[in-house]
Amino acid sequence: MRNWLFVILLVVFLLGGFLLVRFGLVMADSAVSHVEPTVVVWLPITQSDGPLSGTPTATPTAVVTAVPIGTVVAAVETDPVQNSGDSADDPAIWIHPTDPALSVVIGTNKDAGLGLYDLDGTEIQFVSDGEINNVDLRDGFMLEGQPITLVAGGNRSDNSIAIYKANPETRRLENIAARKITVGLSEPYGACMYASSITGKYYFIANDKRGDVEQWEVFEDGQGKVDATLVRNLSVGSITEGCVADDELGDLYIGEENVAIWKYGAEPDSGDGRVVVDTTGSEGHLTADVEGLAIYDAGNGQGYLIASSQGNDSYVIYRRENSNDYITTFQIEAANGIDAVSGTDGIDVTNLALNAQFPGGLFVVQDGDNGNENQNFKLVSWELIANSVSPPLSINN
Ligand code: CA
Ligand code: CA
Ligand code: CA
Ligand code: CA
Repeated sequence: MRNWLFVILLVVFLLGGFLLVRFGLVMADSAVSHVEPTVVVWLPITQSDGPLSGTPTATPTAVVTAVPIGTVVAAVETDPVQNSGDSADDPAIWIHPTDPALSVVIGTNKDAGLGLYDLDGTEIQFVSDGEINNVDLRDGFMLEGQPITLVAGGNRSDNSIAIYKANPETRRLENIAARKITVGLSEPYGACMYASSITGKYYFIANDKRGDVEQWEVFEDGQGKVDATLVRNLSVGSITEGCVADDELGDLYIGEENVAIWKYGAEPDSGDGRVVVDTTGSEGHLTADVEGLAIYDAGNGQGYLIASSQGNDSYVIYRRENSNDYITTFQIEAANGIDAVSGTDGIDVTNLALNAQFPGGLFVVQDGDNGNENQNFKLVSWELIANSVSPPLSINN
């Protein structure tokens, strides 16, 4: 009897132990499955190792790098710059306020100053203010109660911000800097402007070859001039240049030349959070250097972000909105007596109809090699670019 009792107790003990172990393992499994989401590796964004995990546009499978699938041709090329070697750099399109056909391409000669070009490419003014590397502009800046087009560039001759008013009557630039505004960068290399749709404030953003970025608020000084004050610093990681701000969506895109296009908030209090738009190398569509950036406004907060992929002489188009999905890549080939475009630094684009040659807007690029002549800028019809893609890109006049 005692032996039977012992056997029963032993069986109960073993069965209980078995169930306990099973139950415990089940609990452990479910515990693991519950904590799994927090264990998913969401790598912090680092500054030197290219393609990143945990970003909206991360593409785990290899993408064939930047095979150009479209070609377009330039309709116009500008007069060559006056300096030989790598001198032309970055264009900005100034839309004339009363007659779009009188619009002007402003292009930097980074050894000498700013050239202004008619839409037929003729130089109509040269501003000999020094080594201005990049230039940008914004309309609607209020100066002495009148809206003006404010033009600003980074001057490497004295590490200052060059500031101008674009005069629509003379079609010339007038220096309106209140003083010599010295930046804290090693030199002002890339530069762009931002006009906030939130606050109405205007900003000049410059960066340097160390990847340091400064955002300056620009404002009227009360005496018909424009002054600036530093409101933000960023550190991208390594050499930066191309940048563009999206006034409507509040985004600031910066090209880290050997690595990626980054998207930051453009407000001075946006912080240093960022996402990667695209990368160089086998997982991206860019071939270093990442150079000029520009935004085509297709209306309703939509449009295109365009980047110069300098290393393969091409341009990459992404959606402007949401996670900047990749659309296409194209090149500018020789035609109309105008040489093909290669090694582009800066670019700019407008959606506005300018004249019969540019009815759907204008895309302007620096050309790194203008044959036997000094470098210049090439002008391409946006309509041609839009219709070279299937389905066609938007044209918003
Ligand atoms: Ca560069
Ligand atoms: Ca060329
Ligand atoms: Ca450049
Ligand atoms: Ca040429």
